[in-house]
This record gives sequence, structure tokens and C-alpha cells, in this order.
Amino acid sequence: MQNVERKNMENDLMDKIVSLCKRRGFIFPGSEIYGGLANSWDYGPLGVELKNTIKQMWWDRFVRSRSDVFGIDAALLMNSKVWEASGHLGAGFADELVECKKCHQRFRFDELGEISDFRFQISDLNQNQKCPECGGELTTPRKFNLMLKTFLGPAEEKANEVYFRPETAQAMFVNFKNVLDTMRPKLPFGIAQTGKAFRNEITPGNFIFRMREFEQMEIEYFVREEEWKDRFDHWQDEIKRWIGDLGVDLAHVHEIDIPDGERAHYSKRTMDFEYDFPFGRKELYGLAYRTDFDLRNHEKASGKNLKYRDPDTNEEFWPHVIEPTWGVDRSALAVLLDTYRETGEGKDKRVYLKLPPKLAPYQVAVFPLLANKPQLVEKAQGIYNKLRVTSYELRVTTDMRGNIGKRYYAQDEIGTPWCVTVDFQTLEDDTVTVRDRDTAEQIRKSIADLDAYFGEMV
Ligand code: ATP
Repeated sequence: MQNVERKNMENDLMDKIVSLCKRRGFIFPGSEIYGGLANSWDYGPLGVELKNTIKQMWWDRFVRSRSDVFGIDAALLMNSKVWEASGHLGAGFADELVECKKCHQRFRFDELGEISDFRFQISDLNQNQKCPECGGELTTPRKFNLMLKTFLGPAEEKANEVYFRPETAQAMFVNFKNVLDTMRPKLPFGIAQTGKAFRNEITPGNFIFRMREFEQMEIEYFVREEEWKDRFDHWQDEIKRWIGDLGVDLAHVHEIDIPDGERAHYSKRTMDFEYDFPFGRKELYGLAYRTDFDLRNHEKASGKNLKYRDPDTNEEFWPHVIEPTWGVDRSALAVLLDTYRETGEGKDKRVYLKLPPKLAPYQVAVFPLLANKPQLVEKAQGIYNKLRVTSYELRVTTDMRGNIGKRYYAQDEIGTPWCVTVDFQTLEDDTVTVRDRDTAEQIRKSIADLDAYFGEMV
């Protein structure tokens, strides 16, 4: 979509997406029948398809199709010593919280500058900063750790305290030796994982952008120190290629090199990939060069040798790490926002999601022109059954409700790229119409050719 068009729509774009997601089964408010649970969201039938496809596409690309990346699926709850060693239980993984003394609203101190159009560093506390909601006086910032705690076993006592992982990354370092011993990889190689992460965010919100429970896709890519720059560039290119393949316009994504002093202390280079969300330019993905900080630290804390031994020279050292990281939910949100289209006016108005066919929850919808003509219904059912078992696992749906116009409208709104309609001519010559979502144009195709046609298109 042209940037200008997008700008005009931006004010209510989020509302439209949230409403479409609820109405059409992508994403529902969590625990809804009990009044909800603040900022929790449940993926519905179409949302889970989109999300699973994103994850599968990621896994196929970065794990299965590469010989240098190995997947793992670690436990959500890990020994608390992991989080002590990684620094997550310390001050580093804490946001500064301020509260308004008048209206008692809470804010992340580092975000206040953005809210009031007045950016300042966490370190220089501005005593004059007022509550952006009511103008009241704010408390001094205090550190608020983001780790989500629970207890293992029946007794809720200190010894049984554990934390839900705040990122998937640490499990890759913790399993570094296991992967090394079992798979015998040579540098450079990566360990990858997708899965849930939990953060007790102070200011969750903006739909699925910032949640307390979310999903990540991460790779720790182990390299020799001297090659880190090349590998960093490689992953930067891979992230951009990935964004393009999601159907997200790269013009809406900005690569921000985080300057010295604002990066985590162990990182020598960090790049944020920020997306133009309707509520501001915010992080979509990240890429960091973490040096050998993690392996070195975990070796120190665990007492286990986490070095790599060069098979040719026998030299032992801690590999350095490049970490590309992707949020699953932010991917889904960016895809929905970026592919949302409105065309036409009045009764010609059309809303559609221009999803790449490989991401669409359904790739083809098959229906009869008239739902009360048994011959048409039967023929449509036959085509539906046949397309469901193609060798390339086409995702097919059918719809017998309403009239044909309403069915097209409904499929457009959920991003189904093609609709196949069985009409009276079909009964004579075994051809159907195939309607394209983006152009609304229809062509006639022989039923016998559909399998090959969609195979090529998908
Ligand atoms: P932010 O600055 O927005 O808080 P972050 O820098 O803390 O993000 P990372 O720790 O780099 O995020 O996490 C990696 C990725 O996980 C992010 O790029 C984002 O896509 C996703 N992510 C992080 N926090 C959340 C959250 N609360 N809800 C949804 N996705 C998240």
C-alpha cells in the first residue's frame, strides 16, 4: 500500500485490526467469559493457523534447511541459577516504574519521555516530569524486576521458588555442551528454539504487541571472534529477507544501530528492527553480538567446561555469539497491519488482507454459486474434497452460507487468495471460476487443472 494511504488509515487501523481479529476468529481477549484477564489474548482458529505457519516457516528456513543450525525445545521452568548467572534476577532485567501520586496510574519511566514528547535518559531523573494522564506529581522511579515467579511442589516457600523463562535464549547456552557432545558441530553453528517467554511487563498493551506471555523464535549462532562482523551481516540480511517474505513492506521497517552506552553491557553491536506500528515506531526484531559473555558466565557459575575444542588445533575457547531474535506475536501483528487493505467506496468498498498465499489461514475457498441447488453443492463438495488432499497440503475451506457476494467478502477479509465457484456452466463443461483476492478478477479453469494450478501459485 502507498505510504500516504496508510497514513490516512493509521488512526483507526489498530481498532480495525483488533475488531477483525475478534470477529473473524484470529485473536480473542483472554478469559473473556469471566471478564477477561488484562492484556492476555487467545489465538482463535484462524489466528493459530497464521501463527503456526509463521513458526513453521521460520523453523523450515532457519533449522531444517540449514546444516549448521540445530533445534531444541527446552523446559519453560529452569533452575534459578540460570537466571542468576544470566543477570536476569539482577538490576539489568528491571524496568523503572513511577506512579502518579494523584491518579495512581503506573508508567515505565523510560517511556514517559516518549509519551510526553520529551525524551530523556533514565539516569537523569527530571523532578518536574508530571503524570501524562492527569498532570499529577510522580513518585521517584524504582526498579521493578520483570521475572515471573512461581513455586514448584506443594509448599510456597523460598526454596521452591522458580521463574518462568523471560526469553528462550538462555536454554541454548545451558544446552550448548549437550548439543556439542551429541551433534559434533563445527564452528560456526547455531542452536535455535521457538517457544513461550514470560515477562511481568509494567505497561503491557497495544493488543498483542506487548504481553506478559508471548512467543519468541531465537538463534544463538556461535562463531570465532574474528568472524563476528561477517556473521552479523549475514543475519542482518536474513532478517530482512524474512520480513519481505512475510509480506511486510521493508519501507515500514527501520534498522537502528543502538549506540554505545545504550546497549546491554556485554553487547558490542546491537541492531533493532523497528516497525511503523500505528502507535509508533517500535521494536519488531533484534540482532545482537553478545561476545563470549554468556558461555563464559555460565561456565563460571556452573563449574562446567563450556568451551569449544578446535578439532584441528585442539585449542579450547569460548565461541562468540550472534543472536538474531524474532517475536512471533509481533510478527503476526506486523503481518496483519501491513497486509490490511481497503478499496472502493460505499457498496463497492472491499476489505482484504493481502497475505502471501503461504501465510493465509486458508489458501482456497470452494463453493457453489447457489447453496440451494444440490447439483452445484455436490460438485463443489467433490472439488473441496479433492483439493484437501493435494501433495502440497493446500489449506482449503468451503462456505455454503449467504450469497456469493457475501462469501467473497468474508474470504477477502481473512485473506484467502483464491475462491473457486461452481456454477451452471460447470455442470456442462467441468470448468469453474477462480477469483483472485487482490484484483477481484475471475478466470475460468478446468477442474482437472486446479491441483496443478494452485500448486504452482502457492
Ligand atoms: P522491548 O524493547 O519492546 O521491551 P526487548 O528489547 O525487551 O523489547 P527482546 O528482549 O530483544 O525485547 O526480545 C526479543 C523479541 O521478543 C522482541 O524483538 C519482540 O519481538 C519480542 N518481545 C519482547 N517482549 C515482548 C512482549 N512483552 N510481548 C510480545 N513480544 C515481545
